[in-house]
Amino acid sequence: MFFNHLPLPIRPIALLVFRSGWKVLQENLPWLVDKMAIAPEAIQDIVMQVPGVINCHKIASRGLVGRQVFIEMHLIVEAKNVENAHKITEDVEVHLRQRFGSVRVSIHVEPITYQSDQISF
Ligand SMILES: [Zn+2]
Repeated sequence: MFFNHLPLPIRPIALLVFRSGWKVLQENLPWLVDKMAIAPEAIQDIVMQVPGVINCHKIASRGLVGRQVFIEMHLIVEAKNVENAHKITEDVEVHLRQRFGSVRVSIHVEPITYQSDQISF
């Protein structure tokens, strides 16, 4: 291993540089690649189980499951008024949190004519 070929006095420094480099990479890589955190199908499965949800589409997520995930979606709900519609979006957030931990959810509530089969972007 290359480490054994380094002069003894600089080994601790080399180790430190390696470790801090690794730490920076580990902390930032998921954000740098900005990869999809959760398969949109998995999110849709959960959302469609929430009472009052008629349709859920254009789902996107990023972040790291177990740490912080951001989810976006379009949602069509069966609700008499804004208050009821809002309650359903809160139920959706609770269900997603139970399954994926810390999530921040942004939901666009749409009228029924906007129903779509386009699950992701
Ligand atoms: Zn839409």
